[in-house]
Amino acid sequence: MKLERQVALVTGGSRSIGRAVALAFAREGAAVAVNYVSHAEEAESAVREIEKQGRRALAVRADASQRAQVQAMVDEVTTRLGPIDILVNNAGVQKRVFFLELDEADWDWMLGVNLKGYFLVGQAVAARMKARGRGKIINVSSEAAGFPAPRMTAYCVSKAGVAMLTKCMALELAPYGIRVNALAPGLTRTDINRKDLEDDTFLKARLTRIPLGRVMAPEDLVGAAIFLASADSDMMTGMTLQVDGGRGIT
Ligand code: NAP
Repeated sequence: MKLERQVALVTGGSRSIGRAVALAFAREGAAVAVNYVSHAEEAESAVREIEKQGRRALAVRADASQRAQVQAMVDEVTTRLGPIDILVNNAGVQKRVFFLELDEADWDWMLGVNLKGYFLVGQAVAARMKARGRGKIINVSSEAAGFPAPRMTAYCVSKAGVAMLTKCMALELAPYGIRVNALAPGLTRTDINRKDLEDDTFLKARLTRIPLGRVMAPEDLVGAAIFLASADSDMMTGMTLQVDGGRGIT
């Protein structure tokens, strides 16, 4: 097992990609805090699955874009599970809107959760990791960081921001033994895009740009997440690991 005696916090761990990563970390021996904002039952069920594997777990509600809630979450996880060794900034939101119809509220919402949230949680956790001289932070980015997509301005900008946030955090936190890398998934079947994927035209168009020929499942991302969380990636920081079925070479 690669994460024995580690404590991990996964934001947006209640569903989809975050949930798959939380369960995988537990299989590798970690105790896991599962953050959520609105789906308490899903978070509790993830906790039950982790506990069934014999690991400690905790569901913790916090809006990742709100500093006071983030601080309370980090305090609670530290008190109940122990100091956080691994942070996965994964909580994300997406809404497809044409640029000319994108209103300020949706811009603020997507940038708030997808980018400011990573900064807030990253800062709160890194401050504690600094005192211990080690830590691993994984920022879940997206192929959208490098490819503009129609009706996705705010989302793409937020993910491009995550790529630079990752590099800046990595640079400043390296002296404290904290490694910060990004994991950039390609198209993955989850709640965030369930409706898009029901549209055959959308799906066919997207598949033409995925050389490996299929939409990923959340489980396709867990190997890379474990790698970035474990000692196997100790000499890697500030990088983005793209797991996208080859989308990046099209
Ligand atoms: P999802 O199925 O919609 O799940 C989103 C998760 O984020 C849920 O656990 C949700 O919590 C949580 N969340 C949303 N807003 C939050 C907030 N303000 N504070 C705390 N938690 C919040 O999305 P997903 O597809 O798994 O996406 C996970 C990450 O992967 C995101 O960063 C996304 O941008 C990225 N990504 C996804 C894809 C894809 O194709 N699916 C591709 C590239 C990158 P609740 O359950 O409580 O609502």
